[in-house]
Amino acid sequence: MKRIVILGAGPAGLGVAWRLSVLGHSATVLEREEAVGGMGKTLKVGQYKVDYGPHTFHVRPTKESEAIIESIRPFFGDNPHVLIRGTRVFLQGKYYVYPLELLQVLTGVSPALSARIIYDYVRATVGSFLRPPQKEHSFEEWGVRNLGRTLYDLCFGIYSARVWGLPTSQISSKQAQRVAKLNLKNIILRTLGIKADPVTYFAKYLYPQEGISVLFENMAESVRSHGSQVLLQSPVKRLIRNGERIERVVYERDGREIEAPCDAVLSTVPLPVLAKMFDPPLPQPVQDSAARLRYRSLVLVYVVLDRERLADWHWVYLLDEHFRCNRISEQKNVGPSMVPLKQTVLCVEISCFKGDEIWTGSDEELFDIVWRDLSKLGHDLKKSELSSYFVRRIDTAYPVYELDFEEYLIPALEGLHKVRNLFTLGRHGLFLNNSMDDNVLLGAQLAEYIDRQGCDSGAWLGQMLEHMNLRFQGK
Ligand SMILES: Cc1cc2nc3c(=O)[nH]c(=O)nc-3n(C[C@H](O)[C@H](O)[C@H](O)COP(=O)(O)OP(=O)(O)OC[C@H]3O[C@@H](n4cnc5c(N)ncnc54)[C@H](O)[C@@H]3O)c2cc1C
Repeated sequence: MKRIVILGAGPAGLGVAWRLSVLGHSATVLEREEAVGGMGKTLKVGQYKVDYGPHTFHVRPTKESEAIIESIRPFFGDNPHVLIRGTRVFLQGKYYVYPLELLQVLTGVSPALSARIIYDYVRATVGSFLRPPQKEHSFEEWGVRNLGRTLYDLCFGIYSARVWGLPTSQISSKQAQRVAKLNLKNIILRTLGIKADPVTYFAKYLYPQEGISVLFENMAESVRSHGSQVLLQSPVKRLIRNGERIERVVYERDGREIEAPCDAVLSTVPLPVLAKMFDPPLPQPVQDSAARLRYRSLVLVYVVLDRERLADWHWVYLLDEHFRCNRISEQKNVGPSMVPLKQTVLCVEISCFKGDEIWTGSDEELFDIVWRDLSKLGHDLKKSELSSYFVRRIDTAYPVYELDFEEYLIPALEGLHKVRNLFTLGRHGLFLNNSMDDNVLLGAQLAEYIDRQGCDSGAWLGQMLEHMNLRFQGK
């Protein structure tokens, strides 16, 4: 039996703790917040239950995904909703199905724009056939080569620059991981109704009746029932190491510092934070590399309306230049019983960097921005329908892939894993824009690894770098 201390009770931390405890190991999960779930948490505000933006559990048509869902299905509670993807983009004043169907866009926009899309698209496709690129560095290069300038700007360029807060010429092409399959072959396959790649084009979600938290609360309960611990309001402060091994984890609880001895530490906290936790400190170059990794933050403005529903989509991406917000989700459309019958709650996302004018904006200022964008959607919204609004913030929502991010990421990961009994995982531990199902699955795989191979993380890092490489290629 190994004594494993896990930093963070989000999907990754709980995924690994659940599987470790089933395998008979002793896991102690330390979570700084007062509830489990990490970003997959449901907030209770008055009579409303809402998630941090949309948070549905992806069901992918792969063997791995089916197996993990089979084993965690009881944690979704009774009769979870099985949802079929209802995602839209709002482009040039109209809604389109997402992932985009090229024919739909061509017939939806003006004939002149449509002709420009086709011209640029054919030119780009022929160009890259005749002159295959040696290497695509930026997201913009990837997009213009695969889609042509006009389609790229309309559907990805303008939106991505707003989401990431950088010109897309400064964003790595690896950011295209989620949309990498939007090339000619896949567009034709999809137009013909033939299913394309399961990583990008899955269409099914699972969602507990009363919010995504249910999944993680039940998972935490299972960890406890196997004799392991999930400790809330217990932020980790230091990792005491002796050479290449962490011997004790120091955390705070009820104003006191407590030490937990361990055989291994599994961390899901952001790499820049983790790199500074060691006592004695890690070599300066490792800390410097980790410190250069940047995160994009999110401000979430929840708008409560006295109307039964705004629309039928689960969420919609706002693509046009005149929007400031990125995405809107309607909680009722994934969990109907979470909001009173006669009202609806929209969650509107605005991306920013921590400390900028959006992050520090007052609730009133943020609401004004949101209301301006909502009014452009054409649902005949009236101020008299506004019941209330509230604001929440996530500081490390998305890893930012700047052009040269791997020059810092790889040395940071390698330097950290020189501490042989440290394993990093999850969205922040791998600096990977992945989803909850990925993180639960990776957590379960890490538990199996430790059970089989013990507490040396050398081979695990190799596996993760391979996994990340595949994801960066959109696989
Ligand atoms: C707006 C938005 C919408 C999303 N929608 C979806 C979706 O629909 N479907 C999907 O599958 N995924 C979605 N995701 C992604 C999903 O949220 C992540 O993949 C997932 O939460 C990552 O899990 P994690 O455990 O790696 O990290 P987290 O969820 O961030 O958990 C990390 C935990 O570590 C804790 N922690 C940090 N520092 C310390 C410390 N010092 N001591 C103790 N604890 C600490 C944090 O409090 C947190 O609970 C979305 C993400 C965002 C931002």
